[in-house]
Amino acid sequence: MLKDKTAVITGASRGIGAAIAEKMAQNGANIVILDIGNEDQATLLANKLESEYGVKSAVYMCNVTDFEQCKAAVTAITNDIGKIDILVNNAGITRDNLVLTMSESEFDAVMDTNLKGTFNMIKACSRGFLRQKSGKIINLSSISGIIGLPGQANYSASKAGVIGLTKAVAKELAGKNVCCNAIAPGFIQTDMTKNLPTDEYLKSIPMKRLGQTQDVANLALFLASELSDYITGEVIRVDGGLAM
Ligand code: NDP
Repeated sequence: MLKDKTAVITGASRGIGAAIAEKMAQNGANIVILDIGNEDQATLLANKLESEYGVKSAVYMCNVTDFEQCKAAVTAITNDIGKIDILVNNAGITRDNLVLTMSESEFDAVMDTNLKGTFNMIKACSRGFLRQKSGKIINLSSISGIIGLPGQANYSASKAGVIGLTKAVAKELAGKNVCCNAIAPGFIQTDMTKNLPTDEYLKSIPMKRLGQTQDVANLALFLASELSDYITGEVIRVDGGLAM
């Protein structure tokens, strides 16, 4: 489905990003893992993708909050590997707290990673997408950005921002055949959610189960493939019906 395409996935050493990397590799894409710290784990995954799926995979260390690092990483990837076809803005963090006790640094850290990081990578990749008149941008939002969740003023704001960014970019780039969509997961079992009171949440999920990383990766594959060529500016929930 993605043969000979190159996908750059941020925050792909673990969790949802790693599942998206594996799903796209299974479907023939070469995978660039872009991550902030865990180089060993990222390299292990890249080696696994190459040996199991016969694709090329590379690791670039980059902090998505840093505009210049994003620009440099995209330049290096383009020089080393060639054109980028798919950009998945998956890197994200939480710093949960009630607004009364939330610190300025907790607010800033989440906005910088989740929203500005997404902008930085789109900015770094969009000239190439426009030149080649093709591209798929997939941004990880959250149901928290749609309905707002208590304890997540920073995170909800950042993920709502990702939705606005997705729609603006979709409109700007649509004329050049570049699609930009957002995925809004509900509660997916990863390190990010491992300390949450999941029994509480289960009661409010109509499908009565937490999501798996595969559930999100399946949608990312669809949005990266030609099956979604006429879909742009869309926000699709993967939440078992939670935010209906
Ligand atoms: P994880 O915490 O499991 O993984 C996050 C990844 O992002 C890690 O690989 C981490 O790197 C990387 N990362 C963090 N900060 C940066 C940075 N500044 N630059 C580059 N990489 C960075 O998260 P999930 O897999 O659970 O979440 C993935 C995305 O999905 C996030 O955007 C999240 O907000 C979103 N999401 C997740 C939900 C869930 O229930 N899990 C629900 C809704 C949305 P390292 O390993 O080096 O720390």
